[in-house]
Amino acid sequence: MPIRLQKYLFLTLTLIVFSPAALAEMPSDADLQRVVDEAHARFKDVKEGANANYIPILDTVPSDLFGVVIVTREGEVFTAGDVDYRFSIQSVSKPFTAALVMAQQGPEAVREKIGVEPTGQPFNSKIAIEMYPSRSGNPLVNAGAIAAVSLVEAKDEDDRWRLVHDNIEGFAGSELPVLEEVYTSEIETAWSNRAIANLLYNYERLYADPEETLRVYTRQCSIGINVEELAMMGATLANRGVNPSTGRRLLPAEHVPELLAIMAAAGFYDESGEWMFNAGLPAKTGVGGGVVAVVPEKFAIAAFSPRLNEAGNSIRSMRAIRHIAGELGVGLYGSNPEL
Ligand code: GLN
Repeated sequence: MPIRLQKYLFLTLTLIVFSPAALAEMPSDADLQRVVDEAHARFKDVKEGANANYIPILDTVPSDLFGVVIVTREGEVFTAGDVDYRFSIQSVSKPFTAALVMAQQGPEAVREKIGVEPTGQPFNSKIAIEMYPSRSGNPLVNAGAIAAVSLVEAKDEDDRWRLVHDNIEGFAGSELPVLEEVYTSEIETAWSNRAIANLLYNYERLYADPEETLRVYTRQCSIGINVEELAMMGATLANRGVNPSTGRRLLPAEHVPELLAIMAAAGFYDESGEWMFNAGLPAKTGVGGGVVAVVPEKFAIAAFSPRLNEAGNSIRSMRAIRHIAGELGVGLYGSNPEL
């Protein structure tokens, strides 16, 4: 073989074997089902942590429920465990309303009017509002999420709710009910979030009436969703903003990386560094026990388990997702299995 041809073949093969595309190959269907089953089996008996109880009704959700789901950007679904139970979406809704603001007004509106810095503080921190010039921090803590709801361009309260609800249903590709008991329980005890809304209003970092915003934000958090629907929301981000099951575009593709970056920086509040250290994937948690993580341009992993740690993050959900990320080697910065 002429030496030039040898060199050419060698270079081509090297490129095929070591190109990022080859490294980041999509796992097989069998592997996706295997890791979902494994993660469920491995963590199902973990009893650590406790249901959230600052919203009284969340304490009544059966603590042993546990489901794990992967949905690919093609809309293929792999499930294990309790995948039908509809729990309240809570803070997992936050990035999706930030996406709505981005879709309506562009990412600069989120950066300038809410902020994109992690606070390093708990999700309901008022100290962070006093500490940081942006006041609201980022759209994934309560202050920033309440600001995001107020920023949605809407004619009135009904319209604001309709836009927020329709957007979350669009990401899920399903009609989603409001869990009225959760809404009532949360709004009756929402003194902390009311304080946050009023503080933001005081600093001119809330863009609608505080009580209206608080109601719509609380309804958003009370949306009922199952873990498969949650994974579909993540898969819409993995699919560059288009829902894989309905084909509806929810976010312009060019803004998906900006949203995922905020999730990577702040999705777990004061545990965000720890999460990225362990799992290496943009993700979002909620006190209902749901977590969704996104493997960009491939698939989403969601899990649901009501028992939380001190930071308000679901213990089994986090373990299941980081186990899967490690097993499949899909962490954005390389793999770190067996955690
Ligand atoms: N609705 C909850 C709250 O505002 C959401 C918090 C969360 O899930 N971390 O307190």
